[in-house]
Amino acid sequence: MRVWTAAILTLSAFGAQNLHISGDKLRAHVQYLASDRLEGRGVGTNGEKLATQYIADQLRASGVAPAGDNGTYFQRVPLVGSSIAPGATLAFENTSLKFLTDYVGAALSQKEQNDFDAEAVFVGHGISAPEFGWDDYNGQDLHGKVLVFFTNEPPSNDPKFFGGPALTYYGRWTYKFEEAARRGAVAALILHTTPTAGYGWAVVRSSWGGENPQLALEPGHAGLKLAAWLSEDAGQKLVAKTGKSLDQLLAMANEKSFHPVALGFHVKGHIPAKLRQIASRNVIGRVDGTSKPEAILFTAHWDHFGVGEPIDGDKIYNGAVDNATGCAVILEMARVWAAMPKKPSRSALFLFVTAEEAGLLGSRYYGEHPVVPAGNTAVDLNYDALYPFGKTKDVSVTGAERTTLWPLVQEVARQFNLTIEPDAEPGQGHYYRSDHFSLARVGVPAFSISQGSNYIGKPANFGKTVFEHYNTDHYHRPSDEYHADWDFSGMTQMADFGLALGVKIANVPALPTWKAGDEFLTTRIGSGVK
Ligand SMILES: [Zn+2]
Repeated sequence: MRVWTAAILTLSAFGAQNLHISGDKLRAHVQYLASDRLEGRGVGTNGEKLATQYIADQLRASGVAPAGDNGTYFQRVPLVGSSIAPGATLAFENTSLKFLTDYVGAALSQKEQNDFDAEAVFVGHGISAPEFGWDDYNGQDLHGKVLVFFTNEPPSNDPKFFGGPALTYYGRWTYKFEEAARRGAVAALILHTTPTAGYGWAVVRSSWGGENPQLALEPGHAGLKLAAWLSEDAGQKLVAKTGKSLDQLLAMANEKSFHPVALGFHVKGHIPAKLRQIASRNVIGRVDGTSKPEAILFTAHWDHFGVGEPIDGDKIYNGAVDNATGCAVILEMARVWAAMPKKPSRSALFLFVTAEEAGLLGSRYYGEHPVVPAGNTAVDLNYDALYPFGKTKDVSVTGAERTTLWPLVQEVARQFNLTIEPDAEPGQGHYYRSDHFSLARVGVPAFSISQGSNYIGKPANFGKTVFEHYNTDHYHRPSDEYHADWDFSGMTQMADFGLALGVKIANVPALPTWKAGDEFLTTRIGSGVK
């Protein structure tokens, strides 16, 4: 009997201690996931095996059930790496374009031979948005053509028209390539300008000059033979026959009366592609709810860039901030959730996705192959790149204001004494650049949780200075490494906030939704899921 009592005491003491996010455990996860042993957690590498196995082992140790394929913690994600092989040619009239200097891109067909010879048509912004009465295609059938367009969207100050100054998904190049493929184009060429893209040619060149990882096409789906960006010089040559400059064409594209303009010649492409099949994986754990068949979802991407170009003699892209931190937070939340004596009514899914850096591929695959259907998923709370600089006075939850969860998010922020920081750069479209967006596009209310920029107990400019320092010196570089002097209190604060919010959402009576009229950001476009 005495032994029995002691056992109960030990268990309950252990349980109580388990119900808090532990800064030490966060530190241990980040330290391991960002260590050189994991070689930068590149997709399809030994680093992937080690990282995903570690995450699965940690989930198992915490009593979180497997929710992947065939009773495992892993969901298989088939990817194809596609790079343009030597000997590629792209030409029109008497001009032939040079790879890397004049254009970069990828064959999205996932075929080794990609040849086309087709009429070039300028389609403005390449946007068809019936809810705004906007159609750059003007109802024309452009099957078999080479489409030419700008990235970004018509400028607006009216929030009801393309979101006002905020970028909608229609402005992203991902949407435009998808739309061109849906319309049966053989190839699509973006006219790059720094103002429309928001970044210079060097950035385009480095992101598109090498291997382009893609989700393996499902049977019966076709991809563009070439999805490419043209440098400003090359773009100007391509449109020369119109007698207009790129600026003048952009002004035309900004008019509602715009209609497609045939450029008056064919573009010829011979694009041999080198293909590599990559069997990658997401990691998924589950803690069952008490009554409802629905679930809430927590996400973080485990991948980073692996081993790459050395900078200052270091070639391992450890990705400590991006995103060992997010993985650590979700692992800790999963541990605490599994230890709760009384579970919320909805289940909780803990999803660690692959290939975020290659364009949100793992989360997109999950969105299309979910464990709990999108219509039964109450929310996705995503964590991507937290800073180890201590606690903040504010939290960023951009996108939450567009969902019916907004009052609840505000209430939990108040409880934690956190001010909600608005998106500092709405025109940059940050909302479309992390994994929550993959869930949003299948209709799930979804947003990322991260700390704001006002740190407690530091000079007023500390947050800004440190962000700049991180962004310019360490972001996507080998120097994004773990340091023993990191302060995990801010990460603990953000994890506690998300955990409290998650528990409330897992218990709200009605399933949350996007607010009426705001779903244009997400659900009407992209995946075809309405
Ligand atoms: Zn990143």
